[in-house]
Amino acid sequence: MTHNELPHDPATFTLWREAQDIRARSHLAGFYYLIAWLLVWIMGGEPTAQFTVGLAGTAFFGLFLLLRLVNRLPEQYTPRLLQGWLNRQWALILLGALGWGLALGWTLYSPDFKGSRVIAMMATIAFSTASVYHLAMRKHLSLLILPLLYLPGLLALALDWQEQRGHFIALIAYLSYLIFALNRNRQVYQNHLAMELKLLEQQESLEILSRTDSLTQLGNRYHFNSLFPAMVANAQRQSNSLSLVLLDIDYFKQINDAHGHACGDACLSAFAELMRQVFRRDSDALLRLGGEEFGVLMPGTSLEQAHLLAESFRQELAQHGFSVQGQNLPLTSSLGVGCFDKHRDVSAEAFFKRVDDALYRAKNAGRNCLILASVA
Ligand code: GH3
Ligand code: MG
Ligand code: MG
Repeated sequence: MTHNELPHDPATFTLWREAQDIRARSHLAGFYYLIAWLLVWIMGGEPTAQFTVGLAGTAFFGLFLLLRLVNRLPEQYTPRLLQGWLNRQWALILLGALGWGLALGWTLYSPDFKGSRVIAMMATIAFSTASVYHLAMRKHLSLLILPLLYLPGLLALALDWQEQRGHFIALIAYLSYLIFALNRNRQVYQNHLAMELKLLEQQESLEILSRTDSLTQLGNRYHFNSLFPAMVANAQRQSNSLSLVLLDIDYFKQINDAHGHACGDACLSAFAELMRQVFRRDSDALLRLGGEEFGVLMPGTSLEQAHLLAESFRQELAQHGFSVQGQNLPLTSSLGVGCFDKHRDVSAEAFFKRVDDALYRAKNAGRNCLILASVA
């Protein structure tokens, strides 16, 4: 899975991470419960005497295995779907632990299972150790697995104190170690998760930085290069309109020469700010394509709408210019405006060239001018 496919919001990522870990770490549990139970039943010495119990246990662990296999991870990682999957999965984990706890209890209680008591205790130790090391994500649910696995067995051992007190004491000692290990493992899991979230956040901000122009805070050329072909492909597929406005500041070199580079930079920032005020739709992508050249990608916008907005931008700039560093600077720009036409534009590059040609004509027409690509 690539970085872009991961859920980016921390709460959803936390759910996704837990779901992935639980699935990867406990998918064999259903098989092992069933195998362990069959061993306990068959090795007990009296499998026929305990036929009903044996069969009931087999049916239970068989059904449990089936339910675990059926509960598949959702295909879409929305918080609601992930939470639903986790709720069902944790319910199954606890149900499995309870089922095995009862199986252990019965094995230690019933004389017919005397021959497989060691197997049952070994299996319990294995299951509980696995849960402590692999399912330590949650504070209360992870802890609840332990009493479900051990209490019925401990009760059976306590009832047969004379005979089985050694086992009782050994299991209690091991249980105390498991509780200690669980707390530590949960801490390790949380630390690891916090580190992953931090990394995700850093990758996210690096990604934003890499596609943002630092002076104007608009998208940069790199962003345009990845956005533009995708938007053209989308417009082609869905027959949606896609307009492109290209803007180039007129005689910008003179501003730099007359007022200094810092003043030029301030003009570029003010130009970007005016773009934000005029092209306000969330879907509009505002970009600085290079030096004093800018672009606006407007999906779902017809040529007429794009023309109106671009023209209002041109007029606003021509009328007011910018007030920069305490002085009023007259400033104009030339614009080319076009709308993607799938019959005419064979590629994204062809579409760009058509609008760029319109901008070029606007320059040649004397600047402070807007030319429509369709009639160019
Ligand atoms: P035209 O009307 O033909 O577009 O003339 P122009 O002077 O705007 O165009 P030209 O391509 O000759 O010059 C562009 C100028 O933009 C030259 C360069 O110094 C300036 N420029 C490019 N990037 C920056 C920048 O980041 N900051 C500043 N201050 N100036 C820049
Ligand atoms: Mg220029
Ligand atoms: Mg230029």
